[in-house]
Amino acid sequence: MEKKKDQLSTPIIHLKGVGPKTAVLLEGKGIKTIEDLFWFLPVRYMDRSVIKTIGELTEGERASIVARVVASRSLYFRHSRKKAYEAVVDDETDSISIKWFQWVGEYLKQICKKGNLLMLSGEITKFGDRFQMVHPEIHILGDENEAEDRKTIAPIYSEIDGLKQGTLRTLMKRAFEDYGICIESVVPESIEEHHKLVPLYEAFMKIHFPDKDDLKYADIEGSGIQGYLHRLIFEEYFLFQLALLIKKEEVKKDRGIRFKPAGACYRKFKANLPFKLTYAQERVIKEIENDMGQGVPMNRLLQGDVGSGKTVCAVIASLIAVDNNYQVALMAPTEILAEQHYLTMHKYFDEMGISLAFLRGNMGSDRKRILEGIKNGKTRVVIGTHAIIQEDVVFKRLGLIIIDEQHRFGVIQRKRLKEKISVECETDSTPDALVMTATPIPRTLSMVIYGDLDVSIIDEMPKDRQKIRTKALQDKDKAAVYKMVEDELKKGRQAYVVCPLIEESDKIDLLNAKEMAAYLQTSVFPSYRVGLLHGRMKPEEKEGIMARFKGREVDVLVCTTVIEVGIDVPNATVIIIENAERFGLSQLHQLRGRVGRGQYPSKCVLISSAKRTAPAVKRLRAMEETTDGFIIAEEDMKLRGPGDMLGVRQAGLPDFRVGDIVRDVNIMIQARKIAGETMLEMTDDDLDRVQEKAKERWKGISCLSDVA
Ligand code: ADP
Ligand code: MG
Repeated sequence: MEKKKDQLSTPIIHLKGVGPKTAVLLEGKGIKTIEDLFWFLPVRYMDRSVIKTIGELTEGERASIVARVVASRSLYFRHSRKKAYEAVVDDETDSISIKWFQWVGEYLKQICKKGNLLMLSGEITKFGDRFQMVHPEIHILGDENEAEDRKTIAPIYSEIDGLKQGTLRTLMKRAFEDYGICIESVVPESIEEHHKLVPLYEAFMKIHFPDKDDLKYADIEGSGIQGYLHRLIFEEYFLFQLALLIKKEEVKKDRGIRFKPAGACYRKFKANLPFKLTYAQERVIKEIENDMGQGVPMNRLLQGDVGSGKTVCAVIASLIAVDNNYQVALMAPTEILAEQHYLTMHKYFDEMGISLAFLRGNMGSDRKRILEGIKNGKTRVVIGTHAIIQEDVVFKRLGLIIIDEQHRFGVIQRKRLKEKISVECETDSTPDALVMTATPIPRTLSMVIYGDLDVSIIDEMPKDRQKIRTKALQDKDKAAVYKMVEDELKKGRQAYVVCPLIEESDKIDLLNAKEMAAYLQTSVFPSYRVGLLHGRMKPEEKEGIMARFKGREVDVLVCTTVIEVGIDVPNATVIIIENAERFGLSQLHQLRGRVGRGQYPSKCVLISSAKRTAPAVKRLRAMEETTDGFIIAEEDMKLRGPGDMLGVRQAGLPDFRVGDIVRDVNIMIQARKIAGETMLEMTDDDLDRVQEKAKERWKGISCLSDVA
């Protein structure tokens, strides 16, 4: 029978041999369609091609034997009230005990009847001084000849309760017989040939039912099973990347704003810059200017290490918008971060006479006034959290959206912001979007999360930057640490001390900022001025203390992680991080970025308790070894996994069936490259089909959703 291509989406219950009960079991594992079944890959293989005698068995190996049942019995353990079942089998060399520690049905009891010839496969373990097999795979054989037929490499799938491995294997075989012909790669044939990719059908077939030869080369890169596995990973990465690229092109169909560069504010700002832009900054600003000047909307990601000078680039982009009589919206993922941006920005914009507003959650009657300013266009730059995209905020002429992602935002909000704008703005053009990440993110991750954006990277630090020396120490070293801090203070420098908590709490082993500030002031640095900054202070209070620190009226600033972003005091040369074992790697890197911002050599001391865990030790060591944010990011991802690192478990990361974005970086890079070539060769219909397939596959993944 001729099979149509879309039949891979046939519900699994339509597969012969799958009844309602089995269907429920399979669906529990996420296997809802025939295609899902093909993607349910073996976790390992059992080599049944060699059948051993019982006498040849060794402990710990997985092996197959052919043996006859000599006795069998049910067991009952009175103490644990558990049931078990045991059969003893023998061949001409020896005997071995076979055990099931679970309730055993009539069917199995029939198979284990005395005199039956069985083929058994499983792990050989020891009980006392005797070998045993627990829960083996079992087949009843008519005679010795039948054993020959069963000598195959058997796939072993991850356990599905209530479903035998043999049943799964049978279903898989049937799926290949009935639907194998429908397996079709998203990769066009010509591209497949050009890059010498194995046909997708073959890869699936070999993974599920390999030959002995395939396994022999299993550990050789690019051949055997490994190669077929890569082909499958490539397939899903390819679909994903192609969909992102299509998305990226689609956005360019919208009408954008042609901003003219080098207006009055822009020129004034550049002329008054107290420093020379780095080459990287110059390059990135050119990229932004060029995008903004185009008639299609900008969709650009700006990445750079802490302190590399991203803010200046964002300010310049904002000034271009303002010079062209448009408004700018800057969104940050949390109120604290939004506030930090506000504090940084308003010193730039106030100077230029540009009106700026900070939009916060509950701000009472002020809110109305601010909204009015946004609506009538007097307010040129609006900074806030997602509060900016609430219903009652209406812009007059929004031209640029700057999003500080901090890896947490999720593109969903980006999408909402844009939707809203195209509805409620006077202009019918799509605003430009500049996405900034506060810290570098690993290359694969950015290809996955931001694959629909153009990327600008600032890969160069301002020249005046000094190296930061980092040391991981313990509580017992504190006297020496404080001595070192004092030496810096004597030279006129300033210091940060970071604590994980604000006030006393039940976590008594953690230091809190309030107590620490009091202690340092009275007992350690009585002749210096110690200040306190934490997240629960009012914005005016925070601003006040930060201004005093910046103005050198405070020598030592004790704070919580509110300083993570935004504080910029070049005269501060030491940062002490207490309970450093509590912080993630990227966060430590961010904190460290508060020093080394001026012309003086700086130090970072990470103090941890002796009870730290092994991963914590690794984090601290990584901090000692490098100050390169891109390396730190890769390391962080390896230690924590991409989901934890981003804190976006639900919100943003696509789930790949086989691919692991930490392990399979190179396949992702290859997929993106080849997807780029493929784009050029595909018709619009092809592209639509790919897009649909990807959307269906990764429902709710924001970078694939309708508005970028
Ligand atoms: P980021 O946002 O990338 O962490 P910032 O934009 O806050 O970094 O810049 C950090 C500090 O470096 C700021 O004080 C900024 O004024 C300064 N800075 C930016 N660019 C340069 C440069 N090219 N030369 C010297 N200092 C710079
Ligand atoms: Mg534009």
